[in-house]
Amino acid sequence: MQDAGNCQKNATWQNWGKNLTAHPEFICTPQNKDELTNIVKNAIIEKKKIRMLGGGYSWTPVVPTNDWIIDMSKLNKILSVDTVKNQVTVEAGMRVGDLSLAIAGEEFDLDDKPIPPVVNPNNALSFETETVIPWITVGGAVALGCHGTGYTMGTYSDQVVAMEMLLADGTWRTFSVETDGEEMMNAMRVNLGALGIIYSVTFQCVPRFNLQAVDSRADMEETIANIKQLVTSHDYVEVFWFPFNQKCWIKTWDKTDKPITQNEVTWGWDELKVFLEINSFGIYLMDALNKNSWLTPYIMKLLSGLMPTQSVVAVSAQVFHYQLFYMPVWDMSYCINIPNNDFTLVQKAWMQVVKRIEAAQKQGQYPQNMVLHTRYIKNSNAYLSPASGEDHTCCIEILTFTGDNRPVESYESYFKQIEQDWIELGGKPHWGKAIYSVNKLKSMYGANMDAFLKIRQKLDPNQMFINDFLRQVFQIQPPN
Ligand SMILES: Cc1cc2nc3c(=O)[nH]c(=O)nc-3n(C[C@H](O)[C@H](O)[C@H](O)COP(=O)(O)OP(=O)(O)OC[C@H]3O[C@@H](n4cnc5c(N)ncnc54)[C@H](O)[C@@H]3O)c2cc1C
Repeated sequence: MQDAGNCQKNATWQNWGKNLTAHPEFICTPQNKDELTNIVKNAIIEKKKIRMLGGGYSWTPVVPTNDWIIDMSKLNKILSVDTVKNQVTVEAGMRVGDLSLAIAGEEFDLDDKPIPPVVNPNNALSFETETVIPWITVGGAVALGCHGTGYTMGTYSDQVVAMEMLLADGTWRTFSVETDGEEMMNAMRVNLGALGIIYSVTFQCVPRFNLQAVDSRADMEETIANIKQLVTSHDYVEVFWFPFNQKCWIKTWDKTDKPITQNEVTWGWDELKVFLEINSFGIYLMDALNKNSWLTPYIMKLLSGLMPTQSVVAVSAQVFHYQLFYMPVWDMSYCINIPNNDFTLVQKAWMQVVKRIEAAQKQGQYPQNMVLHTRYIKNSNAYLSPASGEDHTCCIEILTFTGDNRPVESYESYFKQIEQDWIELGGKPHWGKAIYSVNKLKSMYGANMDAFLKIRQKLDPNQMFINDFLRQVFQIQPPN
């Protein structure tokens, strides 16, 4: 490969979830725009496919290709901060957690080397909304329309105001609301890495703010019956339920002028981490579930009991990224519409899971042994956003612990049933989490998909950025 920086031949790649492996001809890790351009120019000459790699945290096969993978992780700098417009421009390989700390005026930890703040306290910024996971990259989060919670906030991608892209013909172009209008940005904001390589992104931020973060427990059925009241009376809400518990665990965050009471916010899941790491006892216990699934109700009660109740004030960047430890899990998430503040579909989607867990238990089966979880956001106008739809959206997800050896058969048919339940309620899947009904995706998005594909065809007629998964999603044939 000519002048393309660090390229590894015949490399093997695996995602974080370890459910995907690829053997691309090259994995290249460019360090600057020239190296990135040279990779695309070489690919044009050699007629190769390219897929971009962010952090590798997607479970769906959005990254794999047998041709060339571009690892964006070394393109990870903040390029500029506009303190008048409250905007930040950043290379796409930067991790979202590093970015939010950096613009908040906090020390951050890129590549495990502490880096001093990039803005002074008077100009510090916050994202209005962010994903919980801090290690995914800006490019990966934007490309798949990732989200956190916040009933009046959209997705992470909705905060994009401009994007500098390297296109399939080797040219550079900046797309922005100002120059290209909303229609083009609706395609760009959630692009599945199918329109080109995102080199940098400009985000609209707001002045840095603090959040009052409260963790509490409440009766699960009552909480879901009154979910509208809960969600509409706080800025940000998440609800978790460990199966077989009467109570659920609730997180509410509200903007506040109160001073910070806690500098680092890592609660709840970190208690779980301590528990799991004591002499590896927890991991042993969780793995025992794979062999003795009847233990599930007991362990779910134990884990639910470990979730703390507390109230702290911290800077938003700390609160948003509260979870710094993740167990090996399988995760399926669907976005369910909330039209006119009517939460009926959400309540159905939640209770269907509860009923299916109860029904499985009667047959001695425990397919789900981790949380049922909901977040609540504003709808998105991006064509391919799972949150596209009327007014607001609930992102509901089920997780199950997989460890290293849980047989897929022990939970897959359950996940497929829940997927059908949620599709019947009009749900659309998170692009990075488990999707079984790939063939239904094109029709789920209808006219939005047509509008996206029209733009895609113009930008990438030879399908440089298409892999097998995307061909199935878009239902397109290889070019002649
Ligand atoms: C433990 C865990 C927790 C998670 N928590 C959340 C959460 O809180 N909220 C949420 O919404 N999701 C969450 N996810 C899902 C995850 O955030 C998404 O799958 C996300 O897209 C992964 O980002 P990544 O940087 O790892 O990208 P990858 O998985 O490497 O890539 C994702 C897609 O982005 C494309 N891409 C990456 N970089 C570029 C670029 N520069 N230009 C063009 N395309 C690019 C890739 O080609 C691919 O199509 C979680 C996943 C895990 C495993």
